[in-house]
Amino acid sequence: MAAVDTAVLADWVSRFGAAVTEKRDWLTELDSAIGDADHGANMARGMSAVSEKLGASTPATVDELLKTVGMTLVSSVGGASGPLYGTFFLRMGMAAGAVSELDGPALAAALRAGLDGIVARGKAEAGDKTMFDAMAPAVDALDTALAGGASVVDAARTAADAAAAGRDATLPLVARKGRASYLGERSAGHLDPGAASTAILFDTLAAAVEG
Ligand code: ADP
Ligand code: MG
Ligand code: MG
Repeated sequence: MAAVDTAVLADWVSRFGAAVTEKRDWLTELDSAIGDADHGANMARGMSAVSEKLGASTPATVDELLKTVGMTLVSSVGGASGPLYGTFFLRMGMAAGAVSELDGPALAAALRAGLDGIVARGKAEAGDKTMFDAMAPAVDALDTALAGGASVVDAARTAADAAAAGRDATLPLVARKGRASYLGERSAGHLDPGAASTAILFDTLAAAVEG
């Protein structure tokens, strides 16, 4: 596949919703160790609101689709993850524009704009033990793979692998952002829940692009 169209992105959103719903208990378990035990519920609730919203009308353009996802997450999830993932999808949609498909570089640029939105909103830096630690390596890996001539399918899978490695690398970290930072040193030895859901985000992107 040379380009990712609105239908593929809608499939991504739908797969992400199904996966966070399936993994709700695990995400909540991770959040119970270093947070307030609601990350799985937050993500499942937000993505179920998204699925209802998209079920009512299927947007024709990439920006319309992604902005709808973002606005729905912002308005339906109370926790930190709602505004953060909401901003990610909103910024990604704004960067993509009113087009019906994205080629590899346009997809990478849109994902990077989403990542930048998360940083603008939450001020996370590398090693703070947040979703940033899974997302930044994934977006970097996507850029590198595409620059090296990989197909969008292969580049998206490489990005998903990088997100999973980033998630795993949060295990020993001491949290410096979000609720987990209240625990200080006691946050070490646990995976970050948001990094775990971000690894799911990139795994489902790769699956949707693979088709
Ligand atoms: P809450 O912490 O409000 O209960 P969630 O449990 O749904 O919200 O989400 C927690 C996740 O949000 C964390 O695991 C972390 O990955 C992410 N997070 C929290 N604060 C920030 C931040 N400032 N920047 C980036 N990600 C953050
Ligand atoms: Mg929480
Ligand atoms: Mg909460």
